[in-house]
Amino acid sequence: MVKERYLADLMLMRLARWLRMAGYDVSNPPEGSDDSDLIKVALKEERTLLTRDRLLARRCEKAGARCLSIASSDLDEQLRELLAAGITLELNPERCTLCNGILRKVEESGADDSPGTMDADTLTRCEVCGKIYWRGTHWRGIRERLAGGGA
Ligand SMILES: [Zn+2]
Repeated sequence: MVKERYLADLMLMRLARWLRMAGYDVSNPPEGSDDSDLIKVALKEERTLLTRDRLLARRCEKAGARCLSIASSDLDEQLRELLAAGITLELNPERCTLCNGILRKVEESGADDSPGTMDADTLTRCEVCGKIYWRGTHWRGIRERLAGGGA
């Protein structure tokens, strides 16, 4: 199944980071972009625009772009809105939560990198900005929050 791709507006940058933790491709708005630019990017890259701006959502629909309106300003509520919209939220850290870059496993010399060896101590690095991610025990809390269980 091909996952839906998204474009988050500036009010939803925090939600965008959480979607990335679930493995979704979520673009940040281009620098200095206005509403028209967001709609253009959504159409060109076939992304669903996530926005809290109802006017923008209407313009988006009029332009034939996919859009998902988010009502709440509370992160847990927003996650519940995504779940209600049928979006699967399971921890799947493949993307940098900051810049949306692909995460690559950090190879250690002589380490066994065969499939199935990804454990809690696995280090990954964003291939775009270089941020290092460590899959520690904190992932459990993230997984539970994504599932709508609250924090
Ligand atoms: Zn990055």
